[in-house]
Amino acid sequence: MPLTPEQLQDIQNARANPQPTLRAVSPGMEQHLYEAKPVLDHGFVRVIDYMGDDSAIVQAARVSYGAGTKHVSNDEGLIRYLMRHWHSTPFEMCEIKLHVKLPVFVARQWIRHRTANVNEYSARYSILDREFYIPRVEDLAAQSVVNNQGRGEALTGEEAERVLRYLKDDAGRAYDHYEEMISDEGQQGLARELARMNLPANIYTQWYWKVDLHNLFHFLRLRADSHAQYEIRVYADAICEMVKDWVPAAYGAFEDYRMGGVQLSGKGVEVLKRRLAGEAVTQETSGMSKGEWREFEGVFG
Ligand SMILES: Cc1cc2nc3c(=O)[nH]c(=O)nc-3n(C[C@H](O)[C@H](O)[C@H](O)COP(=O)(O)OP(=O)(O)OC[C@H]3O[C@@H](n4cnc5c(N)ncnc54)[C@H](O)[C@@H]3O)c2cc1C
Repeated sequence: MPLTPEQLQDIQNARANPQPTLRAVSPGMEQHLYEAKPVLDHGFVRVIDYMGDDSAIVQAARVSYGAGTKHVSNDEGLIRYLMRHWHSTPFEMCEIKLHVKLPVFVARQWIRHRTANVNEYSARYSILDREFYIPRVEDLAAQSVVNNQGRGEALTGEEAERVLRYLKDDAGRAYDHYEEMISDEGQQGLARELARMNLPANIYTQWYWKVDLHNLFHFLRLRADSHAQYEIRVYADAICEMVKDWVPAAYGAFEDYRMGGVQLSGKGVEVLKRRLAGEAVTQETSGMSKGEWREFEGVFG
């Protein structure tokens, strides 16, 4: 179960007591505040707190540009200008604090994003729950033959069943031994900080994760991308839905310039110019490597 009855009660209580404030609030984000969005089989992501909205970005930008922004007619246009020109600090004026429940192997990828503040559930202090990520059968796939860092064809039939059985049985057995080792009934009981080493990487952990909007966009750019592993991408997708409601103009600019846009090398620009002039350019005449050309053709082919 992603949330305990106590956590659900806490969420209800928090949402039942709105407080008047003089601070800027984002009506879109108020709908999400405290609510848990389920992710994977036992995980979730929920907003614990946030600071700022689209106008906080604009307000900060106008400090630096002052009268110079007069040619930008509206706030959305200014936000798009900032995003287009990589003027990132105004986006850092907005912050978000999330509570995330996620498998440990996903947490290992997530924690690589160093520009955030993290506080994780302590498995030295507390006993971990018997909750393991077991993929849905349609998410079990073979090693990709074209991408060493990815998956390919779906597993089927007896092989899929066997894989699921191993994942469940091994996790269950490891947890049984964990419980047995930490028990102090008739024995001393092993310290929790040591017993946890026996648990597999699909066990769930939880953390609070606080980050500013600029670095959150960087995280989402990498982790909501099709090259990211499915199990972290679903968290990034869930966060995208929240950010879209929190800062609609900034998210729109991010979606357009970062998620929807492409980065072109100097060689790529040259090839496009030559093509527009009517020349039939091939990989051999482009000056690009085979890999570069494949990626270029993937977008412009
Ligand atoms: C598809 C994919 C595959 C990956 N594969 C691997 C892999 O095989 N092995 C692996 O180890 N990692 C892998 N990673 C992780 C990746 O290399 C980054 O560590 C991760 O995405 C975090 O990115 P970041 O450092 O830009 O983010 P953040 O840590 O949030 O940093 C944001 C930016 O701040 C700056 N910054 C932050 N800290 C420093 C610092 N100490 N010094 C200098 N600049 C800093 C950098 O400009 C950085 O881009 C992969 C990531 C993705 C998305």
